[in-house]
Amino acid sequence: MSSMMQPQIILLKEGTDTSQGKPQLISNINACVAVADVVRTTLGPRGMDKLIHDDKGNTTISNDGATIMKLLEIVHPAAKILVDIAKSQDSEVGDGTTTVVLLTAEFLREAKPFIEDGIHSQNLIRSYRTACNLAIGKIREIAVSIEGKSLEDKKDLLAKCASTTLSSKLIGGEKEFFASMVVDAVLAIGNDDRLNMIGIKKVPGGTMRDSFLVNGVAFKKTFSYAGFEQQPKKFLHPKILLLNIELELKSEKENAEIRLSDPSQYQSIVDAEWNIIYDKLDKCVKSGSKIILSRLAIGDLGTQYFADRDIFCAGRVAEEDLNRVAAATGGTVQTSVNNVIDEVLGTCEIFEEKQVGNERFNIFSGCPSGQTATIVLRGGADQFIEEAERSLHDAIMIVRRALKNSTVVPGGGAIDMEISRYLRQHARTIAGKSQLFINSYAKALEVIPRQLCDNAGFDATDVLNKLRQKHALPSGEGAPFGVDVNTGGIADSYANFVWEPAVVKINAITAATEAACLVLSVDETIKNPKSESAQGEAAAGAMGRGGRGGFGGRGRGMRRR
Ligand code: ADP
Ligand code: MG
Repeated sequence: MSSMMQPQIILLKEGTDTSQGKPQLISNINACVAVADVVRTTLGPRGMDKLIHDDKGNTTISNDGATIMKLLEIVHPAAKILVDIAKSQDSEVGDGTTTVVLLTAEFLREAKPFIEDGIHSQNLIRSYRTACNLAIGKIREIAVSIEGKSLEDKKDLLAKCASTTLSSKLIGGEKEFFASMVVDAVLAIGNDDRLNMIGIKKVPGGTMRDSFLVNGVAFKKTFSYAGFEQQPKKFLHPKILLLNIELELKSEKENAEIRLSDPSQYQSIVDAEWNIIYDKLDKCVKSGSKIILSRLAIGDLGTQYFADRDIFCAGRVAEEDLNRVAAATGGTVQTSVNNVIDEVLGTCEIFEEKQVGNERFNIFSGCPSGQTATIVLRGGADQFIEEAERSLHDAIMIVRRALKNSTVVPGGGAIDMEISRYLRQHARTIAGKSQLFINSYAKALEVIPRQLCDNAGFDATDVLNKLRQKHALPSGEGAPFGVDVNTGGIADSYANFVWEPAVVKINAITAATEAACLVLSVDETIKNPKSESAQGEAAAGAMGRGGRGGFGGRGRGMRRR
């Protein structure tokens, strides 16, 4: 009876779900490891792809860590961190997304036995941070600069970086072909930071080899009206007018109210409409442009008018494409046709409308201000081309990074083995428990070469032993050795041009360490029943009203009595 009289201390709303301490940590670690197990097999040139089928019936085939993580729709709060770092790695450096997920999970997996043994996670966190700093220092030390080389040499080196990235992808078979295309595209846009200046257009059909690079802009022919076929389809050094207005006969009478007292006035109103449009068209022609593009519609009247005057026109050009034409040809998009001066017109060497597969393409090449390039991708299935586009995106990012930061490290797990060896060596000089933690961190780094072997079907233990022995050579000559995915042995990654920009590795290791520390620092997840039922209600609302929220409310009220 007395116990019933005791006042209750209510801290959290009743029904709040909490779990705390060690079990919580372990469960978070397990969740992260489980997520990493999904992407594990995609790592490296022999990695497998994932076919993801969502409830809307879309299928995506991908090898890209970030894409897969995004599509997985993970709901576990701790495991979501992995999705976030994969995304951030993707936007920061564009490659190494699988790597970052694998490293995080491995750091956590190594931490698990310590946590189970009752080590406080802050100790682990501290050591992990130290190890991370040491690792970054080591990468900086090993990295080789490609600065100061001639353009030809540089191109060669950049192409090698690109082909390392591409070698793990579906289009890996044609990596040299695409690598040089990517390098040309990136060099074409120069120092422009806007990634969308490199356009990728996908045209199903043909083979990969039919893909080509346009040094300028290309886009699919827009919807056209009668008269279009009479327009010329090729120009040399044309003036280009870019517009953001409609050139269509508008029924103004629908928008305005006009009162007529005399039926004969009706004609004057009809005439006025025609005069407005003819005036606009006339001004376009007077500007001396041979090509007229507009973001909005150019109707049949305009199309025919321009055709009669040997002018090419295209309406409803996508904004992105129009902006790229503007950047490439040096023109500016106009919102009025009054006073079109020469300065706002763009130009290019050749304009041409060409057939590409089943599509007609408008192609502007030899553009004066450079700054843009367009890759027209060909290939069989839609999913294939989409994955090819994602792969090219990775390669483009890598080349841009390498161009900016211009240091590279040996890939194929070589750099990871080398840091691992260095950390183990360093750990021996440390007294206390943190020696063990740093050793675990070092061991976790070996996941990259191990996974590369596993994915290629080699005996990982065997290869890793060979690598450890090579990297332990006192002369340091073994440092660039990594997994040879062709023979199942080990090989000098430098000599084989398996290179990665140092920044990819630095970013991956920093982000993975941070994420691991974040997960380790969480010892409690609190789930508020309110937010949960609000979510439930939203879901129920989508299917029609459900009575869940009401029941929940009453249930709580009764219990409180
Ligand atoms: P991520 O999404 O992390 O970039 P990838 O599937 O692209 O994952 O695999 C990248 C890893 O594969 C890197 O560690 C890289 O060094 C390695 N790698 C790429 N090409 C080769 C190769 N030809 N031989 C050995 N390792 C390679
Ligand atoms: Mg990659």
